[in-house]
Amino acid sequence: MRRTLRALLTLWLMLACAMLARAETVVFENVNVVPMDSERVIPRTTVIVTDGRIASIGIRAKLPAGTPVIDGKGAWLMPGLADMHNHVTSRDDLSLLLANGVTTMLNMGEATNAFVGRTRAGVVKGDIAGPQIFVAFVVDGDPQYGHLVVRTPDEARAIVRLAKANGYSFIKVYTNLSAEAFAALAAEAKAQGIAIVGHNVKAVGLAKQLAAGQAMVAHVEEFFYGFFPEPPADDQQAPPADARIADAIALVKAHGAFVTSDLFNYRTIAAQFGKPDVVKAYLAAPEARYLSPGDRIDWARSGYQKKAVDLSRRVAFEARFVKAMADAGVPLIAGGDAPTIPGQVPGFALHGEIDAMLSAGLTPWQALSAATRTPGEFIAKTVPGAEKFGVVAPGYRADLLLVADNPLERPAALRSPMGVMVAGRWHDAAALTAMLDGVVERRVVP
Ligand SMILES: [Zn+2]
Repeated sequence: MRRTLRALLTLWLMLACAMLARAETVVFENVNVVPMDSERVIPRTTVIVTDGRIASIGIRAKLPAGTPVIDGKGAWLMPGLADMHNHVTSRDDLSLLLANGVTTMLNMGEATNAFVGRTRAGVVKGDIAGPQIFVAFVVDGDPQYGHLVVRTPDEARAIVRLAKANGYSFIKVYTNLSAEAFAALAAEAKAQGIAIVGHNVKAVGLAKQLAAGQAMVAHVEEFFYGFFPEPPADDQQAPPADARIADAIALVKAHGAFVTSDLFNYRTIAAQFGKPDVVKAYLAAPEARYLSPGDRIDWARSGYQKKAVDLSRRVAFEARFVKAMADAGVPLIAGGDAPTIPGQVPGFALHGEIDAMLSAGLTPWQALSAATRTPGEFIAKTVPGAEKFGVVAPGYRADLLLVADNPLERPAALRSPMGVMVAGRWHDAAALTAMLDGVVERRVVP
C-alpha cells in the first residue's frame, strides 16, 4: 500500500515537473530581431518566450523574480534554420543539426523505426536535444535503390494508411513507381490528409505529378529527369536550354508546389564523380570528424568515385534555375542529402546549401527565407496540426537562433551560433560546443 502511495506521489511529482517545464518563461533582452516575415530588423528589443512559444516582441512585461533572462548584448535573434532534406537517423546527428542552428528537419527516407518512434518522442519530451522532426516514408516500384516496393494500387493505398498510422508526415515517391501505383498513392494520400513529396516518377512525369497534388519536388535536378527535354544521345550531360526555365517555373507556380534547393548537394555529387581524391578530401575535412563510423565507411566505398561523369554544365544551369525560381517567387526550401552523399555532414551541409544559394546570386533574404519562413509555410500547408514555425512572431514555436551579426548583411555569422533555442529550450554557445565535443568523444574508438 505504502509502495503504491509512494509510486503515485512520484508519478504526480514527475507530471508536475513536466508541466512546470512547459510553463517556463524565458526573456531575451537587447536583441535585434530578424523576424523573417519581411526583410526588416526590429532593433534592440525584448522577446518573451512562454510554454515553448514566442509570447511577445517589444513588450517589457513585469515577470516573476527568477525568470531567466538572456542578455543578447545587441546580437541578432532570428528563426532557427530548417533542413528540409536529409537522411539523419541518429541522436548524434541531431546534436550536429542543433549545434549548427537547425531547429527543424525533414528526414526524406530510410529512417529507422526506432528513430521515428523512440528518438522523435524523446525529442518532443525534451529528453533528447534535437530539432523538431518530420519524416517521409519512401516507396518505389522496384528494389534497385533499396526502398520499400509497392506495385499494385491496393498495396499503395495500404502503405499510405500504414505510414500515417506510424507517424510519418509524408509519402515520398521514387523514380520507378508504376503509373497505377502513383495514382493510388496520390488519391489515398489526399483522402488521408498526408502529402506526397519526392522525385520525378519516370512513368508519370513531374507535370502530371504536380497536377495530381504532389506538394514538393525533392531535388532541383529532378527537373532534368522529369520535365526538361531529354539531352541529345551524344551528349547525355548537356544542360537544358535556359529558355525552358520559364516553363518549369510556370508549372510549379500553377500547382502551388514547393521545390527543394539542393545546389550544394548536386555540386558535391558532381565534384566527386570519378575522383577518389575528392572523397578522401571530404573525409579529411574538419567537420568529417563528426561523422559516424558507418557513414565514414559508406563515404569511402561510395560508387560515384568509380565512374567519371562531367556534370559541370548542369551544376551551372542549376544555379541559374534556382536564382530564376527565387526571383519568380517559387517557394524554395533548403536541403541536401546528409549524411548519405559523401561530403554532406549533417548540419554543416545546410550552411553549404545557404552558401551555394548565395553564390548562385540569391540575396541573403532569399536564401534565408528558404531555410526559415518558407519551410514553415510548407509544413503549415502540408502537415495538419503542426505548430507554426519559421518566423519570429507571437504564437510561433520558440525556435530561435542568436548570432553575432545581422544575417541579412553577413550570412556567414550563421555558422557560429551564440545560442540556439528549440521549442523554448535554450542551448548557449558552451552547451553547443559540448554537444559537438560529445559527438567526437563517442565516435572515437579508445
Ligand atoms: Zn535524399
